[in-house]
Amino acid sequence: MASIIKAMQQDQQHTAQPFDLIVVGAGIIGLATAYRALEQGLKVMVIERNSRPVGASIQNFGHACFTGQADELQAMVAKSREGWASASKDAGFWAAQPGTLIPATSEVEMSVLEEFADHRGVEQVTLLSPGEVEQRLGHNHLKPVGGALLPLDMRVNPREAAPKLAQWLEAQGVIFQWNTTLRSTADGVVDTSRGQWEAQRVVVCPGVNLSYLMPEIAQAEQVRSCTLSMALVERPEHIASDFCMLSGTSLARYDGFSAMASVPELRRELQQREPELVECIANLMVTAIPEGLLVGDSHDYHDSPTPFIEESIATLLQNKAAAYLGVKGLRVKQRWQGTYADSPATNLVIHRPDQKTLVAVVASGIGMTLSFGLAAHILSEC
Ligand SMILES: Cc1cc2nc3c(=O)[nH]c(=O)nc-3n(C[C@H](O)[C@H](O)[C@H](O)COP(=O)(O)OP(=O)(O)OC[C@H]3O[C@@H](n4cnc5c(N)ncnc54)[C@H](O)[C@@H]3O)c2cc1C
Repeated sequence: MASIIKAMQQDQQHTAQPFDLIVVGAGIIGLATAYRALEQGLKVMVIERNSRPVGASIQNFGHACFTGQADELQAMVAKSREGWASASKDAGFWAAQPGTLIPATSEVEMSVLEEFADHRGVEQVTLLSPGEVEQRLGHNHLKPVGGALLPLDMRVNPREAAPKLAQWLEAQGVIFQWNTTLRSTADGVVDTSRGQWEAQRVVVCPGVNLSYLMPEIAQAEQVRSCTLSMALVERPEHIASDFCMLSGTSLARYDGFSAMASVPELRRELQQREPELVECIANLMVTAIPEGLLVGDSHDYHDSPTPFIEESIATLLQNKAAAYLGVKGLRVKQRWQGTYADSPATNLVIHRPDQKTLVAVVASGIGMTLSFGLAAHILSEC
């Protein structure tokens, strides 16, 4: 009873307080926005329908793939890098720059990397010899023709970063309304499952849930769900504890690489060499976290995806990753189907339904990468 009275008193107190900013969604986009707002001295409330972050922001690789993004996004990712660095220091979560390794297993893959190195310069792309790739892989079974290291990319542990950032923000005085669902918002008033609050500005970051929360915006921007097959596997001893690797499929996928002249040829090669990876729209990559290696992923697009993980796809990704890692098999500790918002029309959904409301959704698998840069943009726009 005492706790119910305390909760009611807290609710009343919060209702009485004018907020400068209400953020809806405690995924990385909402939390990064709250972090930037706190930096500006704003009084902030975060509304989240779950009791902790459990969305796309904890389901991913924890790979801030700054270098692989399109040229037009480089200013935003530079701000994001700076934000991740300062937030990790403040909130006390791991963020490192071990560099992204991209082994080239064919001459065409190497051509793409060489073109990319020419385009971006040595500060962003270090070309590697076959021996240097083997040294970084910790084995000599792959027989790479060369490779590259992207030294400016960052790594975080996705299971740690958002939860720790939320905890830290709460300790700094940001009010969190957990287990509270936004129903609608207009002109600075949010209507939730626990009542109404008001703020000068409201930023809505619902991720893939945009589709049921604001279906008109989702429909206009062609937002759909993308589901991905993921696994946590035991890390073989020879693989570094901060390991981070992309593959040829990643070169065909990320906008920065895929703008290179040899990519159409790479796509033809992948179709011939590994049609099963092309079929499941794979972006084969591996990152290390303390619990093991994160291995994925495939892509499937639907407005209402089924929850089932296709075992043949999960096994395919696992076996392909094992070949890169120089082992016969990998012991799987966990599997899950990740989900993020996607749109074939845009990478970023930014809408202003009214003067006081801004809706922001990353509609591609790059939300960790853009987060803190996007947050700065959100606050300058609303
Ligand atoms: C398997 C996988 C791998 C990925 N790999 C990478 C990667 O390597 N690099 C990268 O940059 N990105 C990656 N991504 C993409 C990245 O994870 C997402 O783009 C990013 O996490 C989106 O953050 P978000 O805050 O918008 O969404 P979320 O983390 O999903 O957060 C949205 C939050 O809003 C809350 N919410 C929704 N509706 C309401 C409501 N009505 N009321 C209250 N709360 C609500 C939800 O509960 C949720 O907590 C990957 C994603 C997946 C799934």
